[in-house]
Amino acid sequence: MKRIDLHTHTTASDGSYTPKELVRLASSLGLSAVAITDHDNIRGIEEGIKAGDKYGVEVVPGVEISVDFNIGTMHMLGYYIDYHNSTLLERLAFLQSQRDIRNTKIVKRLNDLGMEITYDEVKAVADGQVGRPHFAEILSKKGFVKDFDEAFDRFLGKGKPAYVEKGRFNPEDAIGLILNTGGIPVLAHPPYLYISNYNDLRKTISGLKSSGLMGVETYYSTYTQEQTENLIKISNELGLLITGGSDFHGKIKPDIVLGSGMNNNLNIEYTLLERIKRYLHER
Ligand code: AMP
Ligand code: ZN
Ligand code: FE
Ligand code: FE
Repeated sequence: MKRIDLHTHTTASDGSYTPKELVRLASSLGLSAVAITDHDNIRGIEEGIKAGDKYGVEVVPGVEISVDFNIGTMHMLGYYIDYHNSTLLERLAFLQSQRDIRNTKIVKRLNDLGMEITYDEVKAVADGQVGRPHFAEILSKKGFVKDFDEAFDRFLGKGKPAYVEKGRFNPEDAIGLILNTGGIPVLAHPPYLYISNYNDLRKTISGLKSSGLMGVETYYSTYTQEQTENLIKISNELGLLITGGSDFHGKIKPDIVLGSGMNNNLNIEYTLLERIKRYLHER
């Protein structure tokens, strides 16, 4: 059986593997295809595709866009976006600027909380795009917290004292951007929306479908069996594609293994990608 992983991060966002290293790892693990889905940017795609040719792995160009959602966290995956499209690049550049503004505010919050860190120190552990995991790394390196999780639990997580919102798109705009640049919009990890009621979740996903959503991430490292089953049911009922990926970040999330998730709970078949590609050609 050919296996794939459609949700990964590289050093272009907050992963610890370069695109080339990630693809080499995918090859050594026997994966047939891997999607590079960095947060809010596409800088890793070209290198990844080149490495894919070298190591015999099909590399799917992707992106994971953080969008506005009242309760939990909503991320929109875009597969097969035209990563040279000027509108896409311009909109992603806007997100970069919003991220930069937010990061400066996080530094200030942390300083006000008595932790001496500078933005330059945080930038030094990132490869261009700074995310909260890089803050967590510095906080733990400097001994302000004992580890990564404590950094999020005490300071950086949503609602915690150093959490700062950043300017985002609303879900409809993110879906529209992905569609208009040739891609397939897929709702990432719906359990993070924190909608516990099945019918409410279905209603939310159905609303997104009206805006053009084409798929749902139904396989994911942290899901329970029940969550996967519910998401497959909703997707089938609504006529949405089912997709899956580990959300591999490398050393930032050490429990998650590329392709096989957490405690080997993932086994995502290539046939899912074939269906996505058929959709792409039919639209
Ligand atoms: P950012 O895009 O800079 O806001 O950072 C988001 C990233 O931070 C996510 O993709 C995760 O990798 C990480 N993250 C967010 N919340 C948590 C959390 N509570 N614990 C650990 N990592 C988290
Ligand atoms: Zn991340
Ligand atoms: Fe995400
Ligand atoms: Fe992700």
